[in-house]
Amino acid sequence: MHVYLHVPFCARRCSYCDFAIAVRREVPSATYVGAILREWAQWQGHESWSGSEAVESVYFGGGTPSRLDAGAVGAILERIAADRTVSPAAEVTLEANPDDVSPDRAAAWARAGVNRVSLGAQSFDPAVLGWMHRTHSAEQIGAAVGVLREAGVRELSLDLIFGVPGSLGRDWRSDLERALALDPAHLSLYGLTVEDHTPLARWAARGEVAPVDEERYAAEFLEADSVLAGAGYEHYEVSNYARLGRRARHNSAYWRRAPYIGLGPSAHSGWGRHRRWNLREWAAYERAMAAGQSPVAGTESLEDPAVELEELYLGLRTREGVPAGRLPGETTAPWVSAGWAVASGDRLRLTPEGWLRLDALAAVVD
Ligand code: SF4
Repeated sequence: MHVYLHVPFCARRCSYCDFAIAVRREVPSATYVGAILREWAQWQGHESWSGSEAVESVYFGGGTPSRLDAGAVGAILERIAADRTVSPAAEVTLEANPDDVSPDRAAAWARAGVNRVSLGAQSFDPAVLGWMHRTHSAEQIGAAVGVLREAGVRELSLDLIFGVPGSLGRDWRSDLERALALDPAHLSLYGLTVEDHTPLARWAARGEVAPVDEERYAAEFLEADSVLAGAGYEHYEVSNYARLGRRARHNSAYWRRAPYIGLGPSAHSGWGRHRRWNLREWAAYERAMAAGQSPVAGTESLEDPAVELEELYLGLRTREGVPAGRLPGETTAPWVSAGWAVASGDRLRLTPEGWLRLDALAAVVD
């Protein structure tokens, strides 16, 4: 079993972000812990646990989990360990913004059992960070890495965003090199997209920024693949790179369709063919939990064709690809000739050129 916790609180909304967040100057950590533990109690005895002997990973995502009181992280982990067997090798990840990382907090996270931190770096260019409405400086990224290592957090991942408007004059290569200089075990690279109801969407609607430039997006995606491969990183999923043996186990579980439960507003859960998701807004979620009600906003049970399609789509995202026999040869032969896929042994996997077209290729399969 894999456990995800959505921590919705952020200091402000980043210009590109459409996640379910609650902007708060003061984070209601105690209320959050109370609500999460009530939902956790509702999950005990649930059918999703059948066949799941141990918790293999816990992931605090957001939002900005690093804005919670460090004691809140510890209280939640303690309750999970009290109610369930947690694998001794469990991966426990916390997403953090660099400006939240202090020696005290890092030490408290490590003491609580956090052994992996995913840092939202996004860029090392001050103008780009300002444009993104990030709350941290470029210098704080390197400082945070140092503090986390000092506290004994060995597994570090950096998030970067590529494909920002050319008008910002961002030097992508330089950002990659500055990230590499910090020697993270893992990197997640996300392409900028214009999502509805974000400041970026409003700027785009007013013509103040050009919509995402596809050529720039593709060139930067491929440049990252080549620079990071040259530095010894494995491009193991469309958005993720890791040193050998340092892949993110929590996210890898999603791609393998392992069972996971999601706690908190907007969190999704999945086991077998079942899917369910929670109320999106923190206020509604918190009210439901305080009233002892269910936070579930929707459920779905996938039919066989949908399960197969999900397996194919998730497989195509990864370096392992899918069994070659799962797709008709007449569909995949053109992919291979175009350099979008390679067949090796009994597997078919997409190349980085193929990953750039992932949605279009998956639509053909559908
Ligand atoms: S810190 Fe993360 S979750 Fe919060 S607004 Fe920025 S991108 Fe969104």
